[in-house]
Amino acid sequence: KNILEIKNLHVSADDKDILRGVDLTIGKNETHVLMGPNGTGKSTLGYAITGNPHYIVTEGDIIFDGENITEMPVNERAKRGIFLSFQNPLEVPGITLSAFIRSALEQKSGKRIRLWDFKKKLKETMELLSMDESYAERDLNVGFSGGEKKKAEILQMLMLEPKLAILDETDSGLDVDAVRTVSKGIHAYQEKCKGSLLIITHSTRILESLNVDVTHVMEGGRIVKNGDASLVDTINENGFEQISE
Ligand code: ADP
Ligand code: MG
Ligand code: MG
Repeated sequence: KNILEIKNLHVSADDKDILRGVDLTIGKNETHVLMGPNGTGKSTLGYAITGNPHYIVTEGDIIFDGENITEMPVNERAKRGIFLSFQNPLEVPGITLSAFIRSALEQKSGKRIRLWDFKKKLKETMELLSMDESYAERDLNVGFSGGEKKKAEILQMLMLEPKLAILDETDSGLDVDAVRTVSKGIHAYQEKCKGSLLIITHSTRILESLNVDVTHVMEGGRIVKNGDASLVDTINENGFEQISE
């Protein structure tokens, strides 16, 4: 069974037509890569799947885990297990990283989380991501470096265990060590959470240690090519010009 089925999706924002008929199917525990030149609608697709109200679906459907979520509000989608990691994570003064994740978990499950269990899992996951424990009690993303913000996003993903995680250029601007750590976190999500992934990226570095099932190329608000993991290498050698028929 598929976790995500997108059919003929048209999306606009501020009266601008951005997506013009996207078809995309992601199976359970599959990892898909989405590539394409800047400004083609990759981030818009991520926003449309997560339900950002600025992005209006004018045609088509989004089916998540067998349910039509096209008109569903963002928090309901999050509850059902959709997670989006932003290109530029927000800084939130007054809420610690730890409190933020715990609150998100409680909203998702509708239950109170036992503090001891939560702290244990948080500590283990931060260790996996080579994050200093002290970051748990710091205000969310405030004064975090680019790499630390991205690690904090991956930490949230591993704690929330979504069914589908969309990572929008989570690797952009990271140094080699941070890319390796983020990649390790994504690998743990593939293996332990058995989740599905849509990774929007320009680089291959993040993909090196990951199993990629399908690669998609977007141009002009449509997916113009689908392929296997080797398509990523083809694009890196030849650019996008030769791709679209
Ligand atoms: P990508 O992620 O592939 O670089 P985006 O999805 O960010 O592309 O943007 C696709 C196009 O839609 C761009 O031309 C961008 O300027 C435009 N766009 C994105 N968001 C909005 C918005 N909220 N209002 C108006 N135009 C937007
Ligand atoms: Mg797989
Ligand atoms: Mg983008």
